[in-house]
Amino acid sequence: MIEDKDQSRTHISQLGEFGLIDHLTKNFKITNKSTVRGIGDDAAVLDFKDNQLVVTTDLLVEGVHFDLSYMPLKHLGYKSVIVNLSDVYAMNAKATQITVSIAVSNRFPVEALEELYQGIETAAKLYKVDVVGGDTTSSTSGLLISVTAIGELESKDVVYRSGAKPNDLMIVTGDIGGAYLGLQVLEREKEVFNVNPQNQPDLDSYTYIIERQLKPEARKDIVELLKVLEVKPTSMIDISDGLSSEILHLCKQSKVGCDLYENKIPLDPQVISTCEEFDIDSTTVALNGGEDYELLFTINQKDYDKIKGNPNFTVIGFMREESAGVHLITRAEEKISIKAQGWNALNN
Ligand code: ADP
Ligand code: MG
Repeated sequence: MIEDKDQSRTHISQLGEFGLIDHLTKNFKITNKSTVRGIGDDAAVLDFKDNQLVVTTDLLVEGVHFDLSYMPLKHLGYKSVIVNLSDVYAMNAKATQITVSIAVSNRFPVEALEELYQGIETAAKLYKVDVVGGDTTSSTSGLLISVTAIGELESKDVVYRSGAKPNDLMIVTGDIGGAYLGLQVLEREKEVFNVNPQNQPDLDSYTYIIERQLKPEARKDIVELLKVLEVKPTSMIDISDGLSSEILHLCKQSKVGCDLYENKIPLDPQVISTCEEFDIDSTTVALNGGEDYELLFTINQKDYDKIKGNPNFTVIGFMREESAGVHLITRAEEKISIKAQGWNALNN
């Protein structure tokens, strides 16, 4: 029997808008106490008792923020949740609900949206957030996804970008630069594929960095760990745009300066080897790369003993008076000013 591929593709119009919403959201379960009413009414109802709320939103646009030629829809769904949860955790809050809005063109069959929603569901389950609403509409060209995340915290726990003080230590979680390099590998493979579609890419030596790009995680564990360790950062931000730009945000809002030590920046061995292969400077990648979704925070020195030796944390810098400026101290012990456009090894 000859299989008709199109028979496995359900056109969105077969379900209609409401049928589609029901179909995509039927598996979502409510698990948080603060969710009084989720999907299905005109608005969700949430009750956070005495806690404060944090709200954050992001809009992802096809061709601008993602490329479906190498981004599987499941991963896209997952990542669109993660990037928002990361912002909630950067406030030192617990993420509790999300809403998901999509605009789709009719070139997407229902099955494609199912995949997208599988990724959303996986992330929501893993990070224990309830999907409580959204909106569904059509788009004349590409796919748009907007996720709004809601979180809660006790007012005493909130951590802003603005609380860093001179002499505080600057800490980064995990390692950085991987997501950017993963993107470079995927872009290169896309070029190769365009020239010769028969070519099967061998991506074995890039598994970590590709995963960092396609399936990032948000550091929920760090917010929980800091609570256990009884460390409240003086300031915090998540690394979405690259270390240099995040450091500048922290310093500007806290009105402090900073010395960042090049030899302390945590890099995965795969980041180092791929930088060598691409002939790019690993510090440039770490400073300008972005999309790692690690947390960058500062602590008072009295808390150093509590985080010392923990493999999740690397002390990478020292906060100074604002007048001292924001600098990278290189391996050669040179002092280079970190600029708004990021730092580029080739220009210095
Ligand atoms: P309205 O006409 O008030 O915008 P909708 O029919 O768009 O209502 O939505 C019905 C319910 O489904 C609401 O609870 C809404 O939040 C939810 N919803 C709509 N689209 C989505 C989506 N893409 N993902 C999750 N929930 C959605
Ligand atoms: Mg609607």
